[in-house]
Amino acid sequence: MKKLSIAIFVLLAWQNIFAEENTIQNSPYYQKRISLIGYPEYPFTNNTKIFSSPSEQRQAYQMRFFGYKIISQEAADREMEKIKESGINFVLAEDNRYIMRGIGEMDQNIPGLNAGTLEEMIENTRKVVEACHKNNMQFINHITCTMVDSGLFKKHSDWAMIDMETGKSPLNRYGTANACINNDDFMNEWFKRLEKLCLETNADGIMIDEIQFFGPFKCGCKWCREKFKKETGYELPENGNSKNWFNMKNPAYRRWLDWRSEKVIERHLQAKKIVRKHNPNAVYSAYSCNNTTSWNYYASGSSINNFTEYADSVGYECEPHDYFYQYYWPHEIMELKYLRAIAENIGTGMWTLFYEKALGDYTINWFCSMSQGSRRWWRVHGIPNSEKAYKPLLSWEVKHQDILINTISPANIGVLFSLDSRDRNPIGGSKWMKGFAATCNALIDGHIPYKVVIDEDITPEKLEKKVKTLVLFNTASLSEKAVQAIREFVKKGGNLICSGNISICNNNYEKLNNFALSDVLGFSYAGEQKKGKTLIIDAKNEVTGKLTGSFKYPDSIILLKDLDKNVKVFGKMVDENGKEYPGLLWRKYGKGNVVYFAGYPEMRYFFHYYNDNLIKPGKMWKDYRDPEFLKLICESVISFNLDIPLIVQNVPQGIVVEAYKHHFKDMKGIQVHVANFLGGVIKEGVVPIINEVSFPEARPLLPDPQKPISLKVLAPETKKVYLISPDFDATVGLPFRKEGNYVCVELPDFYRYFILYFSEGDDSEFKTLNNGVVTKLPPAKKLLLEEKNALAGKYDPDSVIVFADDTRFTGGQKGEVWKLKEPSCTIYGTESGISNVTISFDINKKIEKPILEIGAMDDNQPSKAPIEIKLNGKTVFRGNSTFPDAGWSLRSFKIDKSDLKEGRNIVEISNTGKGPRGNIPWMGISFVRIKTSQKN
Ligand SMILES: [Zn+2]
Repeated sequence: MKKLSIAIFVLLAWQNIFAEENTIQNSPYYQKRISLIGYPEYPFTNNTKIFSSPSEQRQAYQMRFFGYKIISQEAADREMEKIKESGINFVLAEDNRYIMRGIGEMDQNIPGLNAGTLEEMIENTRKVVEACHKNNMQFINHITCTMVDSGLFKKHSDWAMIDMETGKSPLNRYGTANACINNDDFMNEWFKRLEKLCLETNADGIMIDEIQFFGPFKCGCKWCREKFKKETGYELPENGNSKNWFNMKNPAYRRWLDWRSEKVIERHLQAKKIVRKHNPNAVYSAYSCNNTTSWNYYASGSSINNFTEYADSVGYECEPHDYFYQYYWPHEIMELKYLRAIAENIGTGMWTLFYEKALGDYTINWFCSMSQGSRRWWRVHGIPNSEKAYKPLLSWEVKHQDILINTISPANIGVLFSLDSRDRNPIGGSKWMKGFAATCNALIDGHIPYKVVIDEDITPEKLEKKVKTLVLFNTASLSEKAVQAIREFVKKGGNLICSGNISICNNNYEKLNNFALSDVLGFSYAGEQKKGKTLIIDAKNEVTGKLTGSFKYPDSIILLKDLDKNVKVFGKMVDENGKEYPGLLWRKYGKGNVVYFAGYPEMRYFFHYYNDNLIKPGKMWKDYRDPEFLKLICESVISFNLDIPLIVQNVPQGIVVEAYKHHFKDMKGIQVHVANFLGGVIKEGVVPIINEVSFPEARPLLPDPQKPISLKVLAPETKKVYLISPDFDATVGLPFRKEGNYVCVELPDFYRYFILYFSEGDDSEFKTLNNGVVTKLPPAKKLLLEEKNALAGKYDPDSVIVFADDTRFTGGQKGEVWKLKEPSCTIYGTESGISNVTISFDINKKIEKPILEIGAMDDNQPSKAPIEIKLNGKTVFRGNSTFPDAGWSLRSFKIDKSDLKEGRNIVEISNTGKGPRGNIPWMGISFVRIKTSQKN
């Protein structure tokens, strides 16, 4: 009996060890990396021509940059021919942004600011332009304005931008400095060179970076002071002694913020005039990153609303936190909607630049941009083998471009992106901003077709033309003009859906005693109650329909008084003490409807906004989105609106559905894009460390998997409904039925990206494009996957390993996010203060032929970081890193058995190169391991 129990004990112990090893093997450190490459190769010949109409050409941009220094005509011809093949029709100059070259001495090799004279730069550019034109592509110069080589100021110290807080001219991270746009001497020299560049390169347009300010306290140069005083009567504070001047209560500061923006526009208009002087069709392109953030206003002195004054083509540099594209698509869509408002205002197309970090990102980013009707600035150099991922997408898009260009939103629900509420809001612009983001996220998840409208759209004429419903959740600051326009809009039959502090401030940073729209709302403001608990909607009503009940509402309540007789209260807010207040109100005003929530319902669907609720692998993520409020927001937004262009049924959160009106040549109709983001729907909990881009099968995830997805589209003239998709090489004809003005279609299945086209015009292109029309939905193409071992390989119980995210691994800069699917720590050059790491090991057994293995990468630049590796103080290696760029690799270093101690051992790795934090030379380290060499 005793023997048996020992046997069982031994067996259990073995099982435990086995189980433990099994778990380790399946831990993120060792598990197989299966990653998405993308769609299979797409056979394609690029025969596209430049559209004869410049405005159509602007809708069809497929851009990429081309970096060059000195180039021969033959080389330029060869390169452009290759670029053309992939489907690109628009090339941007890279590495030649600096036109002020040759004045000061060049301090150092600054990326993007190459040495060489302006004449040399023009000569090389001219060859590339010629090569583009031979290949039916367009070319634009991509240059900087105020980002200059700091050597310039040795000759012209008065050209520098001055920080009023410090009184100094700041240096940027790359060693560049900033000149001031208000400096006429600098700008005149720059304009002269701009004209020479445009005239002599024969380029098709320009994109100018950095006509802007660089930070909230700039600029206090002599020119800014003089001009500001002369044009506004206000004085700027003394440099280095600004006291409390920079505060929104100071009217001079507020005027200064707007004045800077005016100056930026002025300079762009001057530049545009020069660019157009010798080429009336030259395109003037503009773009911005993080376009919704107030930083644009406080730091740069601009907003993308300014684009409506000067830009012909507009873009978005898409940079969510950690470039974590997989999960942040709702945020990106919100910013793309804002860009679309600008593009449609100008009457142009739009494009997006993403920074893909893994091949799979190309596909999910393409879904994101396509769903928002955006073309691309393709970043093709980001990662090795990127062409495998982007080429099939680009080719498919170009092949179908006649269908994809010239789209505008048919949505008649408008959500105002209110610069006044963000930037001139004395009760807190950030709550409005987050509410705006939350509203957009809710409408996307609820599949309600909406568009963003901008301040410029808030006139009676434009509102009447653009929307039937205006959504102004907590839109606190509105100008008198906007208030009047909204009043008119409702009087004439428009619907106003609003909440919170609507119109409680003007656009001059003043809180009012009452809502400016009080007469429209039908009640007055009586303060704010801090502790809400629930919103109760007792009975079926005109706003929320059948959606009734008690909704958890732990936010503050807006108190109301003097309710007009015709105001109906459909819901009540209940505070923590059980006291009730009017919560959801409706009234008729003129011919229109006014719906008001006495609180912040939109905040109950908050997902993420910059720095708020970040998604970090390995960390807890909290989901603040209440699905009950999603319904409530969506129901209220569509109330009283009888002709929304698209009604979607049986589609879950994570499938994005967007409608566009299309008109090109004789083709016209409504197109509906259906995109699968189901693999990027984040759930509350610890965010997985390894995140693969994936597109789960849709059917099992539908609200009712037994039923098809159904779409009703307001397209009364529909003659045929077609379905095209990168998921298969065919055009499918879909059966449909009419219900009044709506056309109804049921999707037999849904894969990853479908475009349904409700054709109301010539449909001959659909019949030829994919070799005729089929009636049966073809199966989905298989996506290409790549399977790789973890950098550390298989778990080896005989080795000692310390990963970069271990506490025994100290120093350097540890990212919170793993880099390229491995834990990562970066050491920068000797000026960084984080140029070395120390790793401590405990060794409890003799290792006969020990070797030191390091998993690491170099800095993605042609040069190699110089490094030194020490074991217990003794140098093991000193020299240039042999690790590869843009990918991890393993290297072994011989060590002497005698140098290894029993017990604690220390490995030190240092970057001995000269450089600051965040710049080259750097080395990324993933782990350090000591094991027995397999070699003899
Ligand atoms: Zn200045």
